[in-house]
Amino acid sequence: MLDITITRKCYPDRGGQPHVALSGLRLHAEQGEFVCVVGPSGCGKSTLLNVVGGLDRDVDGCVSGAGEAHDIGFMFQEPRLMPWLSVLDNVLLVGDCTAATRRRARELLVAMELGEVLDAFPGRLSGGMCRRVALARAFVIEPRLLLMDEPFVSLDAPTANRLRAMLIELWQRCGSTVLFVTHDLREALALADRVCFLSAAPGRVVLDLPVTLARPRLADDAGVLALHSRLLAEHPDLLAGLARPGAGEGDD
Ligand code: ADP
Ligand code: MG
Repeated sequence: MLDITITRKCYPDRGGQPHVALSGLRLHAEQGEFVCVVGPSGCGKSTLLNVVGGLDRDVDGCVSGAGEAHDIGFMFQEPRLMPWLSVLDNVLLVGDCTAATRRRARELLVAMELGEVLDAFPGRLSGGMCRRVALARAFVIEPRLLLMDEPFVSLDAPTANRLRAMLIELWQRCGSTVLFVTHDLREALALADRVCFLSAAPGRVVLDLPVTLARPRLADDAGVLALHSRLLAEHPDLLAGLARPGAGEGDD
């Protein structure tokens, strides 16, 4: 089980006063659970993932159950592909060099309909294809814990839906625990077993909501939309600042 307690996470402020990004935050996840973290911009979501992933250790608190660095997959808002490496080599960048890993990388890329571009460079790919490469890279190590920081932001709705479906399929097969950060509540409701809502800065969990809607789900399914409307009606203050339907979508 992943168990996170962050008593306080501060950044030194340019003006002299420290900026408290997270305070009194507790969050847990069972192994294999898909937890979405939602909250307004600037509330500390990326900070939280960086702490959990061990990228930021300057924090009062503790994280247990995250495992070692090689157990953790990370997918960021930008695909962060190396432009001088082929699609296949970008995926292999994070794995060991065994034949089994190479085979798994190829299989993942073929499953994501990238079998034709294994040797292409990222500059030739569309935005949606780059995200698929990044998704394959996140799963090639079969992570025990996968940390995802708004990975499908600014994609058009059909592309984002397709990537979410691929993510759910890989997650169900791999059994990873997922912490998925988004500011799009409908996306969270479409993906998660549980949604944790963060307050405005300093971020802490103010609502922990199990989502029991049957899978597969899409962000515009009637059940997701009904739950979204109910939450907005029941918690208007809590959810102020979260994206409305259609927000955050752009070009592939
Ligand atoms: P979110 O991902 O929820 O939008 P972040 O975790 O990126 O929020 O940032 C939370 C707050 O901490 C913001 O006010 C941001 O400006 C501040 N912050 C983030 N990173 C740094 C940093 N390296 N130095 C100083 N302040 C930072
Ligand atoms: Mg962020």
